[in-house]
Amino acid sequence: MTDNTFNEDQERYLKGVTAGLHIARGVPGMTGLTGAKTLRPDDWHAQARIRAQAMGGELASQEQAKSECNPLDMWDRMTELAAKGAYPKGDDVFLMKGNGLFYVAPNQDSYMCRLRMPGGIWSTHQVRGVADLAKAYGGGYTHVTTRANLQIREIGPKDPLNVETGLADIGVLNRGSGGDNIRNITGSPLAGIDPDELIDVTPYCRAMHHHILNHRELYGLPRKFNIAFDGGGRISALEGTNDVGFSAVLPKADGPLPQRPYFRLGLGGITGHKDFARDTGVMLKPEECVPVAHAVLKVFLMNGDRTDRDKARLKYVLDRWGFDKFMREVQKELDFPLRWFDLKRCEPRAEIQRAGHMGVHDASQNGMHYVGVICPVGRLSVKQMHQLADIADKYGDHKIRATVWQNVVLGGIAKSDIDKVKKAVAKTGLHVEASPARTGMVACTGSWGCKFGNAETKGNAMTLVEHIEATLELDQPINFNITGCPNSCAQHYIGDIGLLGARVDDPDAADPEEADQVDGFHVFIGGGYDDQEGIAEELAASVPASRMPVYIESLLGLYLDERRSGEPFVTY
Ligand code: SF4
Repeated sequence: MTDNTFNEDQERYLKGVTAGLHIARGVPGMTGLTGAKTLRPDDWHAQARIRAQAMGGELASQEQAKSECNPLDMWDRMTELAAKGAYPKGDDVFLMKGNGLFYVAPNQDSYMCRLRMPGGIWSTHQVRGVADLAKAYGGGYTHVTTRANLQIREIGPKDPLNVETGLADIGVLNRGSGGDNIRNITGSPLAGIDPDELIDVTPYCRAMHHHILNHRELYGLPRKFNIAFDGGGRISALEGTNDVGFSAVLPKADGPLPQRPYFRLGLGGITGHKDFARDTGVMLKPEECVPVAHAVLKVFLMNGDRTDRDKARLKYVLDRWGFDKFMREVQKELDFPLRWFDLKRCEPRAEIQRAGHMGVHDASQNGMHYVGVICPVGRLSVKQMHQLADIADKYGDHKIRATVWQNVVLGGIAKSDIDKVKKAVAKTGLHVEASPARTGMVACTGSWGCKFGNAETKGNAMTLVEHIEATLELDQPINFNITGCPNSCAQHYIGDIGLLGARVDDPDAADPEEADQVDGFHVFIGGGYDDQEGIAEELAASVPASRMPVYIESLLGLYLDERRSGEPFVTY
C-alpha cells in the first residue's frame, strides 16, 4: 500500500507551488491590439533601422549586431559556448543580454543572470528554486534589485543554460531581462494586501509580462525600457521613474466618469537623465493598459534613435516630438479612442507612507498583517531565501514580495503569528525593524561586479550605515541611493542623499601630485519621488569613499542640530 499523505514540508511546498499558479487570477488586457499586424516582427525592426539611418548618422554598433543576429536566436551559440566552457566575445556579450545573461568581465570572470517576475511577487517555490540554482551554479546568494527582481551572480562558463532551463522549470521566464528590451514589470509591492490601494495591479503586471513574452516584435528596441503599475496605495511603485508609468486614480464623484479605478498614463521617466514620467492627460480603463503600452512601444520602436545610444531612450523621442505628436502616433496604433481627462477631476492620491513597506502593518484582509523585512543592500544568501520561503509558507500567503528598495515583504500574517514571524526573521540574520539609515539604503552592484562602476557601492553603503547608526540618532526615514556610475541603476537623483561613484585622488597619498585614483563619490541631496518628486542637486564633488561616512555624519548632524520643529531633511 502506498501512503498518499504528505508530510508537513511536502504540504508547504505544494501550497507554495499552487500559490504560484494564480489559477483564478486571469490575465485581463490581452486583447484589443491593432497596428501593423500584417508586418512580421523582423520587418518592423528592418524598417526601424532604415528610418533611423534616414534621420542621419551611422547605426550604433549594437544595432548592427542586432541586425546580424536577433538576440532571441542565440540559443545554439550559447549552447556551443557552454559545451566548450568558454565565455562570449565581441558582439555575443551584448547579444546574450537579450536572454538575461551578462558576462561581467573584467570585474568578475563569470555571468550574472537577471530574472523576471511581474510585480516582484515571487511564490515560495520559485524563491527556493532560484536559491537552489544560485547554490548549484552561482555564488550562493542573490541580489534583490531596484526593479523588484532577483539576480544570480558568479555563474561559471558551463552553467548559463543550466540556470536558464532551471528557471523555466520553476516558471521564471527571463527572456529579454537585459539588452534593448523591456525590463521586469514592476508594480506596487503590496498589491492585493494594501488596505489603501485603489486596485490590485497584479493581474495587469502579469498581463504585460506575458504580452511581452509572446510578442517577439517588442524585443530589440532602440534601448532598454521600463514599465510600472501603481495601484494608488500606501506604497508607491516609483512609476514616475519609468518610461511608461501607469498610476491608478479615482475620478471625482461629481464628474462624467463612473467612480471606479482608472490608470493615468505617464511617459518618459528616466531619472538618470533627470526626468520623471509626465502625465499625458490620458485616462485608461485597466484593461486598456496593455494595448496602450503596446502602441507606445511600437511608436518608440519605429522612431527611437538607433544611432546614438545616449539619446536612444523614449524621453528623447518625446523631447524631439513633444507629447502631442507622440500621442497622435500612439492613437494611430489603437482601435479605440484614447480618453482625455483632466487630472484635477480625479481624487487626490492616497497618502504615501515612506516607511510603509518596512515593519509590521495591517493588511486589507480582515485581521491579517504584512511584515516588511530589511535586506541590507539587497543581498540574500541561499539559506536566507529558504528561511524566508519557510516563514512565508508557515505563517504567510506563500509569497515573497520584493520591493524596489531592495527589501522584501511577507503578506497574509495572522496577528497571533506576528511575534513568531519576527523571531523567525531574526534567526535568518535579517530584521523587521532597523534604523532609518539601514531601511532607506539602496545600492547598485557597483565596481565589485559591474564593469561600468567607478566605485564599490554595497560595501561602502554598509560602512556608511554602520557609521551613521553608531554616531547619530535619526528619527525619520532618510533614503540613500548609492550608484556606481551615471547609468544610475540605484537612482541617485531621487535619494534624500544620492551618491554617484567617481574616481578621485587618494586623500592619503604622500605626494598629492602623484596620488593614485581611489573610490569616491559625488554627493547629491534633495531628491524625492511621487508627491515629493524632485531631482537631487550636487552638494559636493569627489569625496573619497574613506571620508564619506564622516562627511555624511556631519551633513545629517548639522540637519539634526539646526532644524526647526518638524522640519524634514529636505523640503519639497
Ligand atoms: Fe553598474 Fe553603473 Fe548600473 Fe551601478 S549604476 S549597476 S555601476 S551600470
